[in-house]
Amino acid sequence: MANTPYPQSYYAASANAVPPRPVLQDDVETDVCVIGAGYTGLSSALFLLENGFRVTVLEAAKVGFGASGRNGGQIVNSYSRDIDVIERSVGPKQAQLLGEMAFEGGRIIRERVAKYQIQCDLKDGGVFAALNSKHMGHLESQKRLWERYGHTQLELLDERRIREVVACDNYVGGLLDMSGGHIHPLNLALGEAAAVESLGGTIYEQSAALRIERGANPVVHTAEGKVRAKFIIVAGNAYLGNLMPELAAKSMPCGTQVITTAPLGDELAKTLLPQDYCVEDCNYLLDYYRLTSDKRLIFGGGVVYGARDPANIEAIIRPKMLKAFPQLKDVKIDYAWTGNFLLTLSRLPQVGRLGDNIYYSQGCSGHGVTYTHLAGKVLAEALRGQAERFDAFADLPHYPFPGGQLLRTPFAALGAWYYGLRDKLGF
Ligand SMILES: Cc1cc2nc3c(=O)[nH]c(=O)nc-3n(C[C@H](O)[C@H](O)[C@H](O)COP(=O)(O)OP(=O)(O)OC[C@H]3O[C@@H](n4cnc5c(N)ncnc54)[C@H](O)[C@@H]3O)c2cc1C
Repeated sequence: MANTPYPQSYYAASANAVPPRPVLQDDVETDVCVIGAGYTGLSSALFLLENGFRVTVLEAAKVGFGASGRNGGQIVNSYSRDIDVIERSVGPKQAQLLGEMAFEGGRIIRERVAKYQIQCDLKDGGVFAALNSKHMGHLESQKRLWERYGHTQLELLDERRIREVVACDNYVGGLLDMSGGHIHPLNLALGEAAAVESLGGTIYEQSAALRIERGANPVVHTAEGKVRAKFIIVAGNAYLGNLMPELAAKSMPCGTQVITTAPLGDELAKTLLPQDYCVEDCNYLLDYYRLTSDKRLIFGGGVVYGARDPANIEAIIRPKMLKAFPQLKDVKIDYAWTGNFLLTLSRLPQVGRLGDNIYYSQGCSGHGVTYTHLAGKVLAEALRGQAERFDAFADLPHYPFPGGQLLRTPFAALGAWYYGLRDKLGF
């Protein structure tokens, strides 16, 4: 029997203790079979259980094995594409609904943490840092745009103010979102899984969905068992493989890498990020970082199209960290790991239904900690027959990557190289 462990990350090393979970070795019947125990699957399961559904979750490895247990831990609101782009590609009613929902995921996380007493080092405050005046102009227009949808908590930071929150000379200003923030992502997932079980849901680990028998009463097959369900929610995201071939053409797994320093000590940590906010810069290929509760710096950046694992992650990410914080040149890196997110061509989530009873949400393209929590709520609403918000996502247009399965990776990498060059030249 396969037993896939967590990757060696800071999060796995500092995870809260959890009980062992069973492998599915039976035929079970349920209302909803959720495939994947990342945030999308767990959030869906929780909202469904809270609304009286019976839920069975199948996880190929362990809870939070995918991006949800490996990410930068940054609670970044809105989507991976700006609302003005959404406004241009959909009608005003749909744009209004999507704009209103842009900050809901962060609220859901906080509600979950409070309601289920999840220990995940939640901190408020996230900064978007501008490296040049073009970035700053973009943040100013973002603030105005978000305010049109009622999100008025954002504060522009000038060059003096951003120095008070980030000890990095590279920024000309920024935007502070106190409804953003950061968490220990794996502990959030583990806490949500415990909440699912506290409401009577069942989670099977090391139980990959290998085949779905579609139809009026769909059946999900694993190596040693099967789940008969009224509905299926597909939440495998970048780790889904080819289980649903019709979803794979319009999305592409991509890797991104994270390093974690040795503990810095309170004093040094406080000089870097005095308010303990998380930070991401405004480049297309962006850097993101924050402190952990034991005062390490977690620093992420870079994208590997096609999700190949780089041989030496530290060699890729450490120079980026030192560009932001040269004062860390003698600090040891204790952990380095990679994880996969799912990119769509529009960088907007891919949401929908196959037949009458198979629902999916995937492809949030980089920023997914908040969106996936919202997705769970929106999917649960759809299963309860309230599909207005689900439809607002499902109606977003999606296109296959140019080049097909064979050439999409080099084509996307070429596009990213172009944007990376623009970042470097400050365009
Ligand atoms: C390194 C990294 C850093 C990131 N940093 C941030 C950040 O700071 N802020 C932010 O907003 N976003 C960030 N993201 C993105 C964010 O983490 C993801 O968008 C989000 O976690 C996706 O959640 P998910 O549940 O959809 O997918 P995942 O968390 O990937 O979960 C999918 C799960 O499905 C399981 N699965 C797949 N196929 C099957 C199957 N056939 N049967 C059963 N189980 C299956 C997998 O094992 C996995 O556990 C980052 C992503 C990465 C990789």
